[in-house]
Amino acid sequence: MSNDATKFQYLDAMGIQVWQRRNPAVVAIPNDVASSPVEPAATAAVRPIDDVASLDWDALAKTVSACERCGLQQTRTRTVFGAGNPRARWVFVGEAPGADEDRQGEPFVGRAGQLLNAMLFALGLNRKDVFIANVLKCRPPENRDPRPGEVEQCEPYLIRQIELIQPAIIVALGRHAVHSLLKTDEALGKLRGMQHDYHGIPLVATYHPAYLLRSPGEKAKAWDDLKLAHSIVAVS
Ligand code: URA
Repeated sequence: MSNDATKFQYLDAMGIQVWQRRNPAVVAIPNDVASSPVEPAATAAVRPIDDVASLDWDALAKTVSACERCGLQQTRTRTVFGAGNPRARWVFVGEAPGADEDRQGEPFVGRAGQLLNAMLFALGLNRKDVFIANVLKCRPPENRDPRPGEVEQCEPYLIRQIELIQPAIIVALGRHAVHSLLKTDEALGKLRGMQHDYHGIPLVATYHPAYLLRSPGEKAKAWDDLKLAHSIVAVS
């Protein structure tokens, strides 16, 4: 049995496999992962300069709650600003609210959210320790993919959130998050497993929890990504 396997065990909860640490004090960082090379910013993304860029946290939240920039206000129930600690060292970025999130106004509260909670737990974290946000603050109808125009209109909010939080790490959950943040269309499989740079903040991309629910065989790779993120935070 590998060293990792002695420290971590897979449990089956609610019919889905989740991560569970045996020893909450230790997160194993394999040497090869901890020393992964830093990818230079693929991004060169220019931050949009508009009114949003000068807002403080409360004004930003208020602006998002009244937003009508992209048209999704016509079908949303509630905006989903994000949840957690606005001074967190960890920021997790998903794609967009789904039906449960749209109803409750909170990110990742459905099945994917339960898996995200388990991923956080495996890292010794909980939702109050981190900040969880999405690329889009409103649910696209029928959970369709975000449209480029929607991302363009909404991303100043995420950019400002990250700017105000100044986390030690950003974990991009899924291709929409990493594509939006790094301004690349490289496949997620090529982007994961390494450290990127988002305007001076380390960024690690990994699979979206909803994808992991459909493809549990990829959980081991996602766990490697989370350990890489943990190793980055540990030395920051
Ligand atoms: N999927 C996401 O990307 N975000 C959520 O908030 C919920 C599901």
